[in-house]
Amino acid sequence: MEYNADNVFAKIIRGELPCDKIYEDDCALAFYDIHPKAKIHALVICKALLTDFSDFVDHSDSEEIACFMRAIHKTVEILGLEKDGYRLVFNTGKDSGQEVPHLHAHILGGEKLPVDCL
Ligand code: AMP
Repeated sequence: MEYNADNVFAKIIRGELPCDKIYEDDCALAFYDIHPKAKIHALVICKALLTDFSDFVDHSDSEEIACFMRAIHKTVEILGLEKDGYRLVFNTGKDSGQEVPHLHAHILGGEKLPVDCL
């Protein structure tokens, strides 16, 4: 799928839309999901213009992949989720129900999560 820069996360990266920021570095931006599906629900988006997880793995080098994974983990630490655990979700493509076509990881936690969450 070709990247379409009209999506909401691209607008957040460009500063055209606000977000409730948790963490930011050179490769990623983390903020709270506007419609939380768990007590704590954060999103970590890649600053590179990539549509989904497959696009990310296919078109990133090892350093870029490591940077994004570390940003997810840093966000988990900031949110205080390491002790009790958390769930990571990468919705990818139409069967997953992915709404926003820009690579993002969901971090869910802060409570016992149902098995059908997301
Ligand atoms: P997905 O279905 O994996 O594409 O998830 C997209 C997520 O983005 C959903 O959980 C939405 O609630 C969330 N979302 C959409 N717009 C915003 C926004 N402006 N700020 C924060 N989260 C958003």
